[in-house]
Amino acid sequence: MVQPYKHEPFTDFSVEEHRNEYLEGLKTVEGYLGKDYDLLIGGERITTEEKIVSYNPANKEEVIGRVSKASKDLAEKAMQAAVEAFKTWKKTKPEIRADVLFKAAAILRRRKHEFSALLTKEAGKPWREADADTAEAIDFLEYYARQMLKIKDGVPVQSRPNEYNRYDYIPLGVGVIISPWNFPLAIMAGTTVAAIVAGNSVLLKPASTTPVVAAKFVEVLEEAGLPKGVLNFVPGSGAEVGDYLVDHKDTRFISFTGSRDVGLRINQRASTLSEGQIWLKRVIAEMGGKDTIVVDSEADLELAAQSIVASAFGFSGQKCSACSRAVIVEDVYDQVLNRAIELTEQLTIGNPEDQTNFMGPVIDQNAYNKIMDYIKIGKQEGRLAAGGEGDDSKGYFIQPTIFADLDPSARLMQEEIFGPVVGFTKARDFSHAIEIANNTEYGLTGAVITRNREKIQQAREDFHVGNLYFNRGCTGAIVGYQPFGGFNMSGTDSKAGGPDYLLLHMQAKTTSEMF
Ligand code: GLU
Repeated sequence: MVQPYKHEPFTDFSVEEHRNEYLEGLKTVEGYLGKDYDLLIGGERITTEEKIVSYNPANKEEVIGRVSKASKDLAEKAMQAAVEAFKTWKKTKPEIRADVLFKAAAILRRRKHEFSALLTKEAGKPWREADADTAEAIDFLEYYARQMLKIKDGVPVQSRPNEYNRYDYIPLGVGVIISPWNFPLAIMAGTTVAAIVAGNSVLLKPASTTPVVAAKFVEVLEEAGLPKGVLNFVPGSGAEVGDYLVDHKDTRFISFTGSRDVGLRINQRASTLSEGQIWLKRVIAEMGGKDTIVVDSEADLELAAQSIVASAFGFSGQKCSACSRAVIVEDVYDQVLNRAIELTEQLTIGNPEDQTNFMGPVIDQNAYNKIMDYIKIGKQEGRLAAGGEGDDSKGYFIQPTIFADLDPSARLMQEEIFGPVVGFTKARDFSHAIEIANNTEYGLTGAVITRNREKIQQAREDFHVGNLYFNRGCTGAIVGYQPFGGFNMSGTDSKAGGPDYLLLHMQAKTTSEMF
């Protein structure tokens, strides 16, 4: 019998044995650095001349791997393979589909530290962050498999005498999965397997900065017994392969996680009918955030400062859930700001392979340049209170940075930076703080630090975000516990790791028979 779902615990690295396991994982990864990876199309491995080269962002010289790059022709071949595989996969029993995920979870669990170490190397994730990413991937596999078992017999509807009505969910068709580099294992795996377990076949186009971990995960699904053609691995450029697949007449849905601008582009292209297309494409999008922690005057101020610092600088602020705005009621503004500065100055930054470093690099040169530009803007818009320096000589390192005394409408308070930069602003009172918190075009996460229950209720009603947290930070949603997804420009409010997520990849069919 399937055991009830429980999230994968995080590794306690204060235990020497676990530290050694992680170091062992690093050794395993070092053993295969620089290798070549193929495309996978209809079960066939295809090597292309042109490659996507993946580098270690903490050490630009180190090549993680070289991944074959799909062209339009190969994308078309993959589409045909997916269309073919859908015919049988959609009829494969949900229990068998779920078993592929359960087995993949078991394999991933056995190779947990190897995958985490690969995340450290390829994405620059410090140990703790890498471990959480791997745990979340395992959670997605375990959770979505169980969700499929839950909905496999449909949902009860009424029947009258001599009548038998059913309401069943059936798969959609071929899905295009475009996944991000910031959770290169968890979100890549989660979006892929949700589509697959629901009975769809997919084309996976991973982020070009982190294709190796995706290639390794594809191997895990093969080992777990996924039939040929159900998952086709087609790394490539967004402008070439991404657009081609989004536009394709046989694409039934697109599951995208990434920036607001790319999300809008996909949404727009997907809404245009291609010749021969006979459906409206569905778009599942998880886009950006400009997430706020609100601190009330009646609050645990130490908890407030710690929550802000952890949520702003964990994985160098490269989460759409990251705290990039702290809105503090004026009576306690100086206290919270000063404590946050103190905590920030204690943070260690450097090679994420060294367990003692809290923060590693940002993902690549483009990210580095963009964040450093925002730091320049911040210096004009507010007061630099901590950090502000970068060093891209060896890897892409930027200090955790705080800007104080910003106007709520400043660019630093409105635009997604996706780096270790947080802006502080003062509010007159709690209602004003909530008003400021709502003044962006995003609506992903938020947190409120207060001891006052009425204010908790007020925020519950008025703070318009998909994931709202009280008396804690605003990152680190757990699959099955805090389903994750946002409002407005943050996406389609598709709650990853939630009870209705699979249904986004399915359509309901009513059948009615007279007896
Ligand atoms: N689910 C993650 C969290 O709660 C963030 C995901 C993302 O950055 O896309 O922190």
